[in-house]
Amino acid sequence: MSKSRAKVSKIKFLKLLVLTVPKERHPVAHDTVMGIKHKTMLQVGITGGIGSGKTTVCKIFEILNIPIYYADDRAKALMVSNELLREEIKEAFGQEAYTEEGQLNRPYIANIVFNNQTKLDQLNSIVHPAMYKDGQRWHKSQKNGPYTLKEAAILFESKGHELMDKTILVVAPKEVRIARVLQRDKATKEEVLARMSKQMSDQEKIPLADFIILNDGKAPLVPQILKIHDKLIDINQKTLGV
Ligand code: ATP
Repeated sequence: MSKSRAKVSKIKFLKLLVLTVPKERHPVAHDTVMGIKHKTMLQVGITGGIGSGKTTVCKIFEILNIPIYYADDRAKALMVSNELLREEIKEAFGQEAYTEEGQLNRPYIANIVFNNQTKLDQLNSIVHPAMYKDGQRWHKSQKNGPYTLKEAAILFESKGHELMDKTILVVAPKEVRIARVLQRDKATKEEVLARMSKQMSDQEKIPLADFIILNDGKAPLVPQILKIHDKLIDINQKTLGV
């Protein structure tokens, strides 16, 4: 790429990274008990492409005592512990979907769904309703804190953001993300690019997010996180009247 083109694309990237104005498109979180509406904690989704650093960012929110639901880990656990889910997965993918020890045969399933959109959609249609129920139950069980965080790699792709009061997107330049994943997973560059191609690009996700965190390894993370944390506390107080 020529120097001037590189400069233009850098400026474009930086423009996209300007903290987006929190949108008031989400309704205020309410919980109805016996017909009476009770205000609940804000539910905030956090996402980012592979290698963006969303888990790293969540670890900092954990230090601030924010309860965090790690959707991918929870999905893996539910696929083992939830009897109904196990049966549905076996019906769709065969007995080999689980090992003799009862563990999920992840390489087997990943191999089937990676290049088969119909099978991927089928898996999602089985897992997502159970995840939705589990996530809502978990959120309602949290009593401490101004908001909860739900970390999900495919928050926007799965339309999970529509259930959140606010969303945070973690972004980093593609080359940085690739380098991180190559180091972390010992994968090949082609494998990383193939995984990336299954996710929405940052350019597509940025307009959907309420807050953006730049984790390029240069911009300090803590001040960005504290600023969003304070804003969320403020929104929680204003909208929920607490
Ligand atoms: P994935 O979706 O692939 O699980 P992720 O978005 O959750 O990724 P992390 O696991 O948080 O990303 O980060 C990917 C790798 O990059 C990790 O090894 C992490 O330690 C490293 N990393 C993340 N942020 C930074 C940073 N600011 N400086 C240095 N290393 C970082």
